Amino acid sequence: MSDPLILSGKDVSQTVYENLKGRISFLKSKNIIPGLAVVLVGDNPASQVYIRSKTKKFNELSLHTESYRLPIDTSENDLLDLINHLNQDNQFHGILVQLPLPNHIDSQRVLETIDPKKDVDGFHPENVGLLSIGKPRFIPCTPKGIMRILSHYNINLKGKHVVVVGRSNIVGRPISILTSLKQKGANGTTTICHSGTPNIPEFTKSADVIIVALGVPQFLTSNMLKNNAVVVDVGINRIDADTEKGYALVGDADWNSIQSVVSAATPVPGGVGPMTIAMLVENTIEAAENSV
Ligand code: NAP
Repeated sequence: MSDPLILSGKDVSQTVYENLKGRISFLKSKNIIPGLAVVLVGDNPASQVYIRSKTKKFNELSLHTESYRLPIDTSENDLLDLINHLNQDNQFHGILVQLPLPNHIDSQRVLETIDPKKDVDGFHPENVGLLSIGKPRFIPCTPKGIMRILSHYNINLKGKHVVVVGRSNIVGRPISILTSLKQKGANGTTTICHSGTPNIPEFTKSADVIIVALGVPQFLTSNMLKNNAVVVDVGINRIDADTEKGYALVGDADWNSIQSVVSAATPVPGGVGPMTIAMLVENTIEAAENSV
């Protein structure tokens, strides 16, 4: 078989940023600078890396962003007070609370406190409900990015069997909804697998498109796939490796194993990751446009 098509989120995200430039200029001509408030409780290193990447991109595009870094022992009430304050602050069109939150804080209560019109992550129940009836306001960034990669490479899900492995509220659940909506580019027949699914290969072997989002390094291998399947690898996992840093980043698919079987696949890194940030920028611009 020939080499698989690499579905480069890095390339697609550049197209997204190019296309956003006109919208940003138009908003600026109306004296509106799209603004995002990012709230981080504690000092989770992975969250800090992610926040640095977001901040860099917002600065490059001359958008406004501020990070609120709170100590790990911040009380739930203090966090809710900050969110209520940000809800009222007109310089922020989007609010993002970095997950996971420490155990003493009720994450759901926090997400429900964000003004749904500023909920650029799309996790507020009102926005989850709108998505599930096919009338989304804000689509969560990672699943939105996956759909954008697929449409960029003309991979139409209509009539295809899509298997999603993982059912988190951040990735698996929303992508299972998006892929099965009766909409252009979607309209797939979607199966969702999880830790309670007894025989996952039985499902993945019949899939035309497989989206792995489970957080298990190199879980998906060639013997779980049919020939010419498309694989979207959401996983970002650190494994011990003989490198300068002492670790390597790998996905939930085993690239060495799947590359001889798939027709197309997203790499890790450079696949879904860059699209998540691009969609956060896009959602913040949408929020700013909706505020006019
Ligand atoms: P999560 O909240 O931990 O959810 C993982 C899901 O996978 C759960 O539904 C879990 O089942 C299921 N699962 C775990 N182990 C399994 C197994 N052995 N077999 C079948 N199902 C299994 O994770 P997440 O937030 O969705 O993230 C998943 C991965 O994507 C992680 O590697 C994360 O770092 C990465 N990620 C990447 C991006 C990006 O921008 N590229 C964004 C978000 C996440 P249960 O429901 O039964 O527990």
